[in-house]
Amino acid sequence: MVERIADSEENLLRIADVESSFAGGVNEVFVQPLAKPGRVLIGEGVLTKMCRKKPKPRQFYLFNDILVYGDIIMSKKAYIKQRILPLEDITVEDLADDGVMKHGWLIRTPSKSFAVYATSASEKQEWTTYMIKYGKEQLEKTGKIPEKENAAVWTPNSEASICMNCRKTQFSLLKRKHHCRKCGSVVCKSCSSNKYLIVAVSPRPQRVCDTCYDKLTAVRPPIVIRPVPPRPPAIKTIGRPVSPLQHTDLPADLRAAHVPNSSPHLPGVQGSTATTGQDPAPPPTASPASSHLT
Ligand SMILES: [Zn+2]
Ligand SMILES: [Zn+2]
Repeated sequence: MVERIADSEENLLRIADVESSFAGGVNEVFVQPLAKPGRVLIGEGVLTKMCRKKPKPRQFYLFNDILVYGDIIMSKKAYIKQRILPLEDITVEDLADDGVMKHGWLIRTPSKSFAVYATSASEKQEWTTYMIKYGKEQLEKTGKIPEKENAAVWTPNSEASICMNCRKTQFSLLKRKHHCRKCGSVVCKSCSSNKYLIVAVSPRPQRVCDTCYDKLTAVRPPIVIRPVPPRPPAIKTIGRPVSPLQHTDLPADLRAAHVPNSSPHLPGVQGSTATTGQDPAPPPTASPASSHLT
């Protein structure tokens, strides 16, 4: 069905329409043409995007292969700052309702991650369902292996009155807020004086907080490969050779208690009743609800 719409005149006209609605900006030199064989416009609408300072309405277009959004200049007519995210890069993560911020979810990609909010639960359901569905299809089509790491979701300015790194600097007109591009924290200037190249986020080095900078630049201890000492010449031993503690080396009363891979301490050393130590660890629990497009 999708393929049929793709070639239909209506679909081509709608895509041309979207394309021209982004072309009005004065400095819009980087607006990309959207018409492409096989591309279908699935849905469109205004979503509230959590921006650095506050939530703002943004126009979104969901195609079968990309998500396009931009700032609204004139409702239903003109948009600027076009951004394009390939669907196969998107991980959708549910957000619980929080006060007035309802019907939201996270859009995570290696280059950019942010929260968006729909006006109703059903609208949210529709957007997320199609984002996941077409994202999966794109992953299959392109054979891309999803990036392991997504960009950090920026903490909104309003959520930090003091620096999230030093926990000392009080933000004010003079003490400006900055965002670490690695972890998304709101930090002070002196806690974010370093830049680091995060290729997926930007081709230029970006501001990072001191904690992230230390982690990113930490020198890992080199792996020491010890030479294997030559084996001593075989000598005849009298009696049993000395070997590491083995299950069968234990006295019979301890043997039952010696459970490999359980408690690291040796049971019953003082001759008391041997125990098996701790119970085995419980099975790992399921990870929290999050849907990667795999
Ligand atoms: Zn600080
Ligand atoms: Zn950081």
